[in-house]
Amino acid sequence: MPYRRQRPKKVKNDRPADEIIRDLKASRAPSASYRERSLKIHGLICAKCAREFDHKDRHLLTVHHRDGNPRNNPPDGSNWENLCVYCHEDEHSRGLLGDYFSE
Ligand SMILES: [Zn+2]
Ligand SMILES: [Zn+2]
Repeated sequence: MPYRRQRPKKVKNDRPADEIIRDLKASRAPSASYRERSLKIHGLICAKCAREFDHKDRHLLTVHHRDGNPRNNPPDGSNWENLCVYCHEDEHSRGLLGDYFSE
């Protein structure tokens, strides 16, 4: 019987689930990163109702694209507006397809 060494393979296709999840999240990071930048530039305040947020409820503050194009993300933040989820919803409910196409 030939002796076969069972070498532990470098696991490449068999990564731990949490590592895969981490990668998936990282691949979605572009949208998250402009959000962070916008919050930094414009502050944790809704541009419409002037409601202020802090780190605890900052997830309620979202980034709206003024020109309706989510791919237009100038680094100076000129196309971003921080809106709370309520105002953002209101803003988008005005157009049938939302401002991403019509505004
Ligand atoms: Zn608001
Ligand atoms: Zn919007």
